[in-house]
Amino acid sequence: MEDKILKNKEYNKEKIKNNIKNMNQINIKEIDKQVIKINYQKELEKIIKYNEANNIVPTLLLHSCCGPCSSYVLEYLSQYFKIKVFYYNPNIYPSDEYWYRVDEQQKIIDLTDSKYPIDMVCGKYDTDRFYKMAEGMEDIPEGGARCHKCYELRLKEAAMISKKEGFDYFTTTLSISPHKNSQVLNKIGEKVGKEIGVRHLPSDFKKNNGYKRSCQITQEYNLYRQDYCGCEFSKRESEMRQIKKEKKELREYMKDIGKNLELSYMEEADKIISQKLFESEAYKSSKVIFTYIGEYPEINTKPIIEKALNDKKIVCVPYCVDKEKMQAYQINSLEELHLGKFNILEPDIDKAKHISIDKIDFMIIPCSTANLMGHRLGFGGGYYDRYIKNSHAYKVLLIRKKQISEDIPREKHDIIIENVISE
Ligand code: SF4
Repeated sequence: MEDKILKNKEYNKEKIKNNIKNMNQINIKEIDKQVIKINYQKELEKIIKYNEANNIVPTLLLHSCCGPCSSYVLEYLSQYFKIKVFYYNPNIYPSDEYWYRVDEQQKIIDLTDSKYPIDMVCGKYDTDRFYKMAEGMEDIPEGGARCHKCYELRLKEAAMISKKEGFDYFTTTLSISPHKNSQVLNKIGEKVGKEIGVRHLPSDFKKNNGYKRSCQITQEYNLYRQDYCGCEFSKRESEMRQIKKEKKELREYMKDIGKNLELSYMEEADKIISQKLFESEAYKSSKVIFTYIGEYPEINTKPIIEKALNDKKIVCVPYCVDKEKMQAYQINSLEELHLGKFNILEPDIDKAKHISIDKIDFMIIPCSTANLMGHRLGFGGGYYDRYIKNSHAYKVLLIRKKQISEDIPREKHDIIIENVISE
């Protein structure tokens, strides 16, 4: 029985891998290999021109992802087509967001000044179908294989309804987004159209300033414009982007604070902080100390290094091996340091002894700011989070009161430093 479960698991894993591989092959490699990319807006214009010349007003099932994206598309296409908006988005998370987007969709239809009437129909909010499709692709960044499958899922449903209800064409508003590859979208549309036997209307609505116009309309009508594509994975990505932005802004802000700190304040604060450090039991009992080499406006750690050497402790300092990795090297005096490639003081690794992380029992961790709970903001390289995550050493953050921030934007990988010393 267990064998069977294992085999099934393996089979599913293989299936998911192949899904990803196939999507990558179909959509990314083949499409990107095309030397000349198709201008789908021009293709659409040819169809419109032909229909106008022949007094044809075709019916169109327009899959829509949301009100804002459909705003310009409806304004434009409703001059030439009788449209039924098909709101089919089982990807949307959470359900409140889904229903909010449905309302906004209806609102924009009502507000559109159209030549021909526009109707709307909602598909099933079958989230299980979306999650099943996304299985194994949850961590693929937006725009990758998961998204291509997501387009296909929604376009296929649109094509099937289109066929069932006898529409002349089907298409989607998705190509309006600057984040969506219209070459991929149109290829998928053509593919499902052929499979189901219904005509796909080519589009690249971001052309002719379509995206810009959709932003204008959204603003004019005071419509809600979401800041993530739709699924919970894109929501997470968008939140991460926001946190990174906030971190960057806080780093800049702290740089300005640092520039304006008076030397006398820094010297006084550092003296008190160092004293507290030397009096701590953890320092007293430590044998191997790892510390950054801090210079103003950071906490000046040079006096700490000198005292630790006098106290006969092994002192090691960081050396950045490459863009990812940091190692610790022992120094016996500050004289052994020299200016390194990032214009910071570092040990001479040809002469200094490498100290493995498991030998270190006391670590002083730098930060550009922190709060008293030990949430720290580093300098953006992620060196320390990577380096210290497997260390069992006692870790301490030193921070002057004027450089403390109450709210530190945090990501999953950010490590909390359990001990904080301030003046
Ligand atoms: S990011 Fe957007 S297109 Fe991609 S899977 Fe999520 S909802 Fe679908």
